[in-house]
Amino acid sequence: MRYVSTRGKAPVLGFDEVVLAGLANDGGLYVPDDWPVLKEKEWRSLRGLSHAELAVRIMLPYVGAALTEEDLADLVEAAYARFDHPAVAPLRQIGPHDWLMELFHGPTLAFKDHALQILGPLFDLLLTRAGRRVAIVGATSGDTGSAAIEACRDRAAIDIFILYPKGRVSDVQRRQMTTVDASNVHTLAVDGTFDDCQALVKSLFGDPSFRDEVGLSAVNSINWARIMAQVVYYAWAGVALGAPDRPFGFSVPTGNFGNIFAGYVARRMGLPIDRLVVGSNRNDILTRFLETGVMVQEKVEPTLSPSMDIQVSSNFERLLFEMHGRDAAEVRAAMEGFRQSGRYQIPSDLHQELLGLFRGHRLDDDETLEAMRLIRDTTGLTVDPHTAIGVVAGGVAGRRDEGGVTVSLATAHPAKFPDAVERATGVRPALPDRLADLMTRPERSREVPNDTRALQAVIRAGLGR
Ligand SMILES: *Cc1c(COP(=O)(O)O)cnc(C)c1O
Repeated sequence: MRYVSTRGKAPVLGFDEVVLAGLANDGGLYVPDDWPVLKEKEWRSLRGLSHAELAVRIMLPYVGAALTEEDLADLVEAAYARFDHPAVAPLRQIGPHDWLMELFHGPTLAFKDHALQILGPLFDLLLTRAGRRVAIVGATSGDTGSAAIEACRDRAAIDIFILYPKGRVSDVQRRQMTTVDASNVHTLAVDGTFDDCQALVKSLFGDPSFRDEVGLSAVNSINWARIMAQVVYYAWAGVALGAPDRPFGFSVPTGNFGNIFAGYVARRMGLPIDRLVVGSNRNDILTRFLETGVMVQEKVEPTLSPSMDIQVSSNFERLLFEMHGRDAAEVRAAMEGFRQSGRYQIPSDLHQELLGLFRGHRLDDDETLEAMRLIRDTTGLTVDPHTAIGVVAGGVAGRRDEGGVTVSLATAHPAKFPDAVERATGVRPALPDRLADLMTRPERSREVPNDTRALQAVIRAGLGR
């Protein structure tokens, strides 16, 4: 399998190189040059497999010669062994045609663990083989950071630097990053928003000499391997609920568009997904875009669902590439225009095509609290604010043609957002036992200004310590 950049000016690479590179050097994102498609009988043959067995079958076409089937099986077994539920991604029925898939049973309690628990060891394996080291730099709106740190801590070939927007992540989210005691882990509090953090990371990648000097790499959802690993649970839910013999919708609380793009990929692989619902909070750039066909960047507002406090959804570029028939020149023009003016308008025929699959729905904070209450009253389940948005969005915008079902993705454990949950339901969710002392562990973090040069100096000084 070869990978091409959405902007068409970066070298075509194999899987191992794409994983280690993260972002393409033309500023684009890597995608497979062709989507592997499973036939109906191949989908049926996945029934009854364990999550790990299914993961190998879904991911094998993407890794090409970079990993043997055995290597891949070892990686996924070890990754899922760290989850605290034997099903890895259990499904719960919450209505006549509605399911909830719990993606928060990994070490850091958010869906990010599904991909990062595979990506961390994968990096280490590929680097050790190649005799290389990398400096992983990532921006987090809250959950990627801890998941990446947990996956990369104490790995000899990796230094990891995580940027988060100071004061804009929950206490639990921050502490999951700052209390990790490992010398290769560097947690950096940026004076700015998540979009500022993400722009800083992109600016580091845009400086080729710095990039080579420190061996820069990324584990943000711009890294293809994360998308690939997330396709697994869409396939898992689909197969468990009767694919390929009936249609599905998924509802996904969305920020950077990485999770829901994995759903799109599952569809390209032949899973009969007929609806993908984008759940938004007040930072509703994607929902507005779906409604109007115009993407207009606004100021990021802090909300009760901080992992979605994003106005620039990086992975949308991958969808744009597909929508434009893989015409990289169109993508370059669109992205350049958006960068300059904060505005992009999709041609109306493509907008209509998009609406054939995608819908958006937004909830403000009051509606999110109301949703958490309602879900608790009707199902007995306590859900986090992101999940609540997804469930309501799925109810409003999910389609249920002839026996179809909607699966909402529970992206975080409620204990990650105890204040919001308590405000909504009156009950303060407890952290799992293994994290019970989180709020009293000592913190380590460093403040950095929103400035590329200053950040470069901090990274240089932190390497190999
Ligand atoms: C990261 C995250 C999201 C958003 O996922 P994207 O892949 O960025 O769209 C939603 N909910 C939670 C809890 C998250 O951690």
